[in-house]
Amino acid sequence: MTSSSVPDFRVGQGYDVHRFAEGRRLVLGGVEIPHERGLDGHSDADVLLHAVMDALLGAAGMEDIGHLFPNTEERWRGADSRALLREVHRRLGDARWRVVNIDVALIAEEPRIAPHIPAMKGNIAADLLTDADRIGIKATTNETMGFVGRREGIAALAVALLVRG
Ligand code: MG
Repeated sequence: MTSSSVPDFRVGQGYDVHRFAEGRRLVLGGVEIPHERGLDGHSDADVLLHAVMDALLGAAGMEDIGHLFPNTEERWRGADSRALLREVHRRLGDARWRVVNIDVALIAEEPRIAPHIPAMKGNIAADLLTDADRIGIKATTNETMGFVGRREGIAALAVALLVRG
């Protein structure tokens, strides 16, 4: 069996973490969540969307967001991660990749995430021109252990499945 006869599904994973910081907005999945602290970062620090983008790019065998949108470049300061996600989607489309599904685990001791999940799914689905039922998002705490448990930051894990054509 040659490689070309194998169905062209590709899976990718993404991981990201950002520190909490005073005086910053908290933006997760493109949703601004009222909270006393936000996440620090060069862009809007949307840790959830960053993990999603790296999962998509990894599945397509493309360079990660650190290469595409370097935090050393002034043009990405304060960037809206949803705009970056749409740029990732454009690049996937150019290479004929379509999203089959995405699943995200957000690991945060605070704030409560569940009420915002439908809006997050809607944002991601809109930016990827797909249906919200192809986007899975769940949140868990770290049971007070480690840096997430000490409320120092938020981590996100994502997997994405793509199909060519
Ligand atoms: Mg990041």
